[in-house]
Amino acid sequence: MIYFSMAHLLGTDRSQLLLLPESVDDYVGPDNPVRFIEAFVDGLDLASAGFERVTAKETGRPGFDPADLLKLYVYGYVNRVRSSRRLEAETHRNIEVIWLLRHLRPDFRRVNRSAFRQVFREFVILCRQLDLFGRELLAVDGTRIKAVNNKDRNFTRRSLAKFIREADEKLADYMKRLDESDADEGKVGGDTGPDGRGGDLAEKIAAIKGKRDRHKALLDELDRTGEDQISLTDPDARAMVRMTKVGVGYNVQLAVDVKHKLIAEQEVSNQVLDMGLLAPTAAAAMETLEVKRIEAVADRGYFKIEDIEACEKAGVTAYVPKPIRGPAVAQGFFSKEDFRYDLEKDVYLCPGEHVLSPRHFGKSRDNVRIDYVNRDACKACHLRERCTKSFRRVSRLENEAVLDRMAARLAA
Ligand code: SF4
Repeated sequence: MIYFSMAHLLGTDRSQLLLLPESVDDYVGPDNPVRFIEAFVDGLDLASAGFERVTAKETGRPGFDPADLLKLYVYGYVNRVRSSRRLEAETHRNIEVIWLLRHLRPDFRRVNRSAFRQVFREFVILCRQLDLFGRELLAVDGTRIKAVNNKDRNFTRRSLAKFIREADEKLADYMKRLDESDADEGKVGGDTGPDGRGGDLAEKIAAIKGKRDRHKALLDELDRTGEDQISLTDPDARAMVRMTKVGVGYNVQLAVDVKHKLIAEQEVSNQVLDMGLLAPTAAAAMETLEVKRIEAVADRGYFKIEDIEACEKAGVTAYVPKPIRGPAVAQGFFSKEDFRYDLEKDVYLCPGEHVLSPRHFGKSRDNVRIDYVNRDACKACHLRERCTKSFRRVSRLENEAVLDRMAARLAA
């Protein structure tokens, strides 16, 4: 019964006897997602997915079934409860969790996270069987996940070289002062002895030298592995930009099927930039979705000719907008987009309606680069101030048609 007092609701009288449902099951409706979590986890072959302790030991204190731990973990994931402590609290007060775990209250620290990838795959297969994927269009993007590694325990080639350089300068300065101190020792009334200035300097030198040697060893390790960074706590983690800040973490690539916005593929990488990761992510999603062709959209961060080419080869029709960048744009000149390429004649038409022809051949990474120019036209051009300082050179890669095709798709 609800009592009213003026305009405020008072709720139910706590001492009033109520006819509550008799079983926990009655509190969980037939459409409650926890029923799906239970059915899904119970349908998994956890042993072959790599979970430990799937079969209970015959002796000793009974442990928790990994299926129950996984149910709790999935429940936490779906409801955005990440911490073990908070999940444990839910086992005491949350009727859905009480239902899901049958009043069990695991401390949740022993869940086998390494087997989760297989659980994810099983979930994707189930979604596919239920026809929840459109399998026509993917949205690919990366998200940065923080690692355990502190920023102070991550070193780049540059930061190591800088430290070594500064340490060398300091050492040279201390050595000079130590020499001066030694010279003083010989003079009457000079500052001498182990407790004097010379002793302090020797200690400082030893400390800096020790640090310098450790940094040099890290730099040698980078030279040996060919990597650009080294992380001491979490060796695979890399310093990368997350939102606007630099943190040490991972770059998780996600391919989302747009029909119901379900994740079709995820891959953890330590590549700092997304560039180059479109084709591998989309191709892996195609395999999971069992399709031969698919369309994929991604942001400018994925714009890389080799990757777009690899997409075409893999059957992925990519849509990636071209970033407006380059030295000409940086100087406020016309961008390359202001020049029209004529495929038949293999020339560019510039904003001043002059023809730029192929003149120089060079290399850009692994691609052949062709420069298009028209020096004479530039000399007398009324647009020159907006285009170039001397004469304009427009570069085109030999395989750039792949980008033209994508630009046409995007325009359409
Ligand atoms: S400066 Fe040269 S390339 Fe630029 S608009 Fe003039 S003629 Fe064309």
